[in-house]
Amino acid sequence: MVLPLVIFCLKYQRIIIQKNRLFLYKTYVSKLRTKLDKKKSMSFSNSLIEDYWKEEKFVFNLNHSGKKELCKSCKVDFIDGNKEICLKCENHINIGSILPKLKYIEITDSSEAHIKILSNYGVKLHKDVPGESENFIYNINDSKIYPKLSNKFKFIANNVPMDNHKTISFDELGKKSIGTDKLAYLKADVDNLGSIFSLGFNKDVEGKMINKNNISRTTTLSRMLDIFFTGRISEIIKKKYENCYVVYSGGDDLFIIGPWSEIIDFSIYMEEEFRSFVGNNANITISAGISMANVSTPVSKVADYVEGELEESKGRIVKGEEYGKNHVTIFNRTMKWQDFKKAIDDGKKLTKWIKEGLMTHGDLWRLKEYDELFQDFYINGNVQGLKYKPFLAYHIGKKKKSNKDVREVVNWQESLFDMANPSLINLGVAMEYAVMASKGR
Ligand SMILES: [Zn+2]
Repeated sequence: MVLPLVIFCLKYQRIIIQKNRLFLYKTYVSKLRTKLDKKKSMSFSNSLIEDYWKEEKFVFNLNHSGKKELCKSCKVDFIDGNKEICLKCENHINIGSILPKLKYIEITDSSEAHIKILSNYGVKLHKDVPGESENFIYNINDSKIYPKLSNKFKFIANNVPMDNHKTISFDELGKKSIGTDKLAYLKADVDNLGSIFSLGFNKDVEGKMINKNNISRTTTLSRMLDIFFTGRISEIIKKKYENCYVVYSGGDDLFIIGPWSEIIDFSIYMEEEFRSFVGNNANITISAGISMANVSTPVSKVADYVEGELEESKGRIVKGEEYGKNHVTIFNRTMKWQDFKKAIDDGKKLTKWIKEGLMTHGDLWRLKEYDELFQDFYINGNVQGLKYKPFLAYHIGKKKKSNKDVREVVNWQESLFDMANPSLINLGVAMEYAVMASKGR
């Protein structure tokens, strides 16, 4: 009799402890979120509230600094002596040269660290095998454990396009695209991540929603997403899209630059892979922004612009949908991924027809006119926009008369009379693609 009672008490005690832990975990997560939100909305609180107004924190007197010029690279810090760039930028260049060849990272004390984390600690980067050490060492992108050397491994997406062990310049990278030599910048991240973590573990138990969120579930989901953005993305680029330059990829987002045509193909493949990675769960989706740029445009400028494109993908509710997100924005248009794929397929078809002489650049510009007219009707409700139909019919008839059209092209053009056809709704995207892809350098 005593033993079952003891077992019952122990079991019951365990349940109480587990429930309390879960309760504490949820309470602390919620408290942390509130604190983070508060901190985010008070950017200058340290200087304006805690220390009150101190002019030297905001105004720098150049005459009293003893230094002459601003760094030519960041234009934020001052340079010492005859140098052209500041110490910070020098360090960034050094780190940047090691990262593509990174083999190990070592947690070490700050004196020999490339990147300082806390006042006493930092990370040392190794291109070669480090000497024996008692420090914590990670293998990079290699899951084997070498007992004498490393204790753990880590995936990092550090791909940069190389030629003969040298990083390819943006000028050369642009030339690797088809048609016009431009670059594309791609920014993407997982939609509704906060809600996925706070509500995603809810379980329907006999009609009642039970929150099953706990530390292990949260960290597992977080780690799995990180594995996709570090390990999987790195593998995809290594095998299929080796001209893509990873600025960063990890956690739940990525920022990649590459030849414009390759970035478009990569983005489509990346979304398909992500969908399959999350088991086609319709609640876990990804949104992206893609911006085209000349090879000489400063990265920071396009980076800001593409951030705006990503926000557009998240915020815009496309006609016929109830919610935003799960979108891609490119060429000033936001659309669902499957419509984007369709538009790019159409763009590739148009490019092929131009190369085969079945279409001319003049035909492409006509498509642009039809697109502008139709969009005026589709978005603004202006019935004048429907004029695209007689124009299109006239154009098809004219081509037929001069025997310059073939069935495949006519069929595609005739499909544009259907106003629910995604090829018509995103005609501008297909047309922009074809213009860029069929243009000489
Ligand atoms: Zn600098």
